[in-house]
Amino acid sequence: MNQAPTNSDVLVLGAGLAGVSAALALGGGYRLIERASRPGGLCRTEVRDGFAHDITGHWLHLRDPDVRALVNDVLPGGWLTVQRRASIWSHGVFTRYPYQVNTQGLPPAVVAENVLGFIDAHLGEKGRELRERVPHNFAEFVLRHLGAGIARNFMFPYNEKLWTVPASELTIEWMGRFVPRPTLEQVVRGALGLEGDAEGYSATFLYPREGGIETFVRALVARLPRAPECGVRPLSIDPIRKVAILSTGEEVRYRAVVSSIPLPEMVRLVGGAPPSVLEAAGLLRAATVTYVNVAARDVGAPPWHWVYLPETKLRPYRVGSASAAVPSVAPPGFRSFYVEMSGREPVPPAEAERAAIEALLAVGLIGSPADVRFAHVRSIPQAYVIHDRAYGAARSAVRAWLAERDVLVAGRSGNWEYSSMEDALLAGRQVARQLKR
Ligand SMILES: Cc1cc2nc3c(=O)[nH]c(=O)nc-3n(C[C@H](O)[C@H](O)[C@H](O)COP(=O)(O)OP(=O)(O)OC[C@H]3O[C@@H](n4cnc5c(N)ncnc54)[C@H](O)[C@@H]3O)c2cc1C
Repeated sequence: MNQAPTNSDVLVLGAGLAGVSAALALGGGYRLIERASRPGGLCRTEVRDGFAHDITGHWLHLRDPDVRALVNDVLPGGWLTVQRRASIWSHGVFTRYPYQVNTQGLPPAVVAENVLGFIDAHLGEKGRELRERVPHNFAEFVLRHLGAGIARNFMFPYNEKLWTVPASELTIEWMGRFVPRPTLEQVVRGALGLEGDAEGYSATFLYPREGGIETFVRALVARLPRAPECGVRPLSIDPIRKVAILSTGEEVRYRAVVSSIPLPEMVRLVGGAPPSVLEAAGLLRAATVTYVNVAARDVGAPPWHWVYLPETKLRPYRVGSASAAVPSVAPPGFRSFYVEMSGREPVPPAEAERAAIEALLAVGLIGSPADVRFAHVRSIPQAYVIHDRAYGAARSAVRAWLAERDVLVAGRSGNWEYSSMEDALLAGRQVARQLKR
């Protein structure tokens, strides 16, 4: 027998940071539905044998004063402010991040190629054509602003590993604050070892003193007036009747939906999308990240928080270590590492583990495979949304169709974007405010 639908003013889908932030800002009148067994989404932490591994690196970079106030309010005294130690491993040496202003230490021929390429891009004859027009894609943007040397030695190989497509297929809107554009003086000084590394979007970050990034999620969730309902997902959403059917069998009548679940999936859940919208949703692509949580003996290697790996001979694009920033996330005498690799599909576990250990060995973060206590392979489907030529129009078409049906989207997967934890918190708050108005 069918029961009458229950009522919820706003149905919030997904209890990652965006969904939790939306619920917090709504302050009541919502149901927060989460498919996983606990909230947090990408900000969950796996605790095992005294190691706390996040879903790769999760460092909190803040620029918004209200978010900073929220962060301190929910976890007072619970944060460490960490000065970034990030590097690039290339030609057998570490150079500091950002690559473009710290090339000293690389083989002289590489440094020369980088500096001369930069000069050419900004002043030379070869760079003129690109200087006189707007770049059409990320490859042109890099050649225009950083030059052919930095493009060839770092920007192209690193980004192509991460995004899984050639740099010429990527557009330029996504990069915003993520790609520093230095001056010639900074590049030259960096080539001579005179430039500090305080550049880039992430010179300092916050990280919980204990327990990994999920400590933050738990503190936020504790403030919610109504707890997330975990292990539940929507089976379908009828945008005409405004009724969602949940996997528990319950029917929920709503006024609006806030969705932080992957955008293409949301379109399929909402009934009645026309072929043009379904086609647009089908054009939205993302790279899957396979990552390996490694627990290893501390061999006294440099305590980098993360290391970019542009060279194609190593499968991963980055390795990092939370315990290098906050030793409490690994037992004494040990270090925790994450090793990330991108692809269209998850990398098979045995291959991922082998590639991870090979990379840690190559950069000297472990001394031998015997230093490894465990290596656990995990994956993140749809980790990096691919900002290709189809992306902008396809995403707009999908979002507009959903908005007309009172489905508002927020967050990294929800809004199908390249964005940070802070962005997810801001987006959740913003849609809640919109609904309250
Ligand atoms: C590899 C990687 C590294 C990152 N590193 C950093 C970093 O160092 N610093 C930083 O600021 N940001 C980082 N980010 C970004 C950050 O993780 C995200 O921006 C943020 O956590 C996104 O939160 P969200 O709520 O939008 O999405 P999510 O965390 O993905 O939450 C979505 C939630 O929806 C749930 N869900 C999915 N489908 C359904 C369904 N059908 N029904 C119900 N629930 C569903 C999921 O289980 C999940 O809990 C990183 C991201 C990745 C992928």
